[in-house]
Amino acid sequence: RGTQLVQVRVAQVTARHLLVLAEDMTQARRLEAIRRDFVVNVSHELKTPVGALTLLAETTEDAADDPEAVRRFAGRMQAEAQRLSALVHEIIELSRLQVAGALGPLAMVDVDRVVAEAVDRSRTTAAAKQVRIDVGGESGVQMFGNHDLLVTAVRNLVDNAVAYSGEGAHVGVGVRASGDLVEIAVVDEGIGISAAEQERVFERFYRVDPARSRATGGTGLGLSIVKHVAADHGGEVTVWSQPGRGSTFTLRLPRVPATEAYGAGDRAQE
Ligand code: ADP
Repeated sequence: RGTQLVQVRVAQVTARHLLVLAEDMTQARRLEAIRRDFVVNVSHELKTPVGALTLLAETTEDAADDPEAVRRFAGRMQAEAQRLSALVHEIIELSRLQVAGALGPLAMVDVDRVVAEAVDRSRTTAAAKQVRIDVGGESGVQMFGNHDLLVTAVRNLVDNAVAYSGEGAHVGVGVRASGDLVEIAVVDEGIGISAAEQERVFERFYRVDPARSRATGGTGLGLSIVKHVAADHGGEVTVWSQPGRGSTFTLRLPRVPATEAYGAGDRAQE
């Protein structure tokens, strides 16, 4: 009986090991597919501005004796180059976030400063559209995290709120601390997002309206970056929205992330 019991145990352990191994392989295959998709998407996205720049350069050459046309094409080339630069910047940012340990050493972060910096960097675009950005909620909230990544995340949300709102609209940024969580909400009264699209907007390169997004300099990577920053902090980002009425994006982050979220429990002490 003893031998039988041992054999059953061995079989159970082996089965469990095989299951874990199979899960690891599925996960590896899934990650590989994601990486492959990303490369295909990146190549496709880069081709658009590069193609436009090439065409504009050729047209400019043909119009060499028309200074007014040359000036016009030069302006469009600058806009395309800026778009390309933003795209490359975001691709690098996202690639960096996809690597484990992207958060680096954790530090005490001032949420007020994060919000102030994020809003500050969106002011120029907001001013051009006469959009007012109000900051409210609790002050003095602190959390463990990566200051720069949190600024990037909040800034992406504020930039979107401004981009997808009409002239003269209001955008609000609110901070709330409840229990172990810090919530940063960005509220707009812009075009909104339908229920079906709400699930998709966090996907890489997904845009509800590619033409509109392109016109505002969007890359389709902003929300994907926000999602990664939230997940790396052990938190999440959610959206509430009604088409025609506006959207609210909420970052919900633990004040002190669970150590297991980082794999290395000693990182917080580094
Ligand atoms: P983009 O660079 O195109 O803004 P994002 O990843 O930041 O890319 O957003 C993905 C898409 O989600 C946008 O193209 C837009 O259609 C939609 N979206 C994001 N934020 C808002 C918002 N505040 N209001 C309405 N639509 C939004």
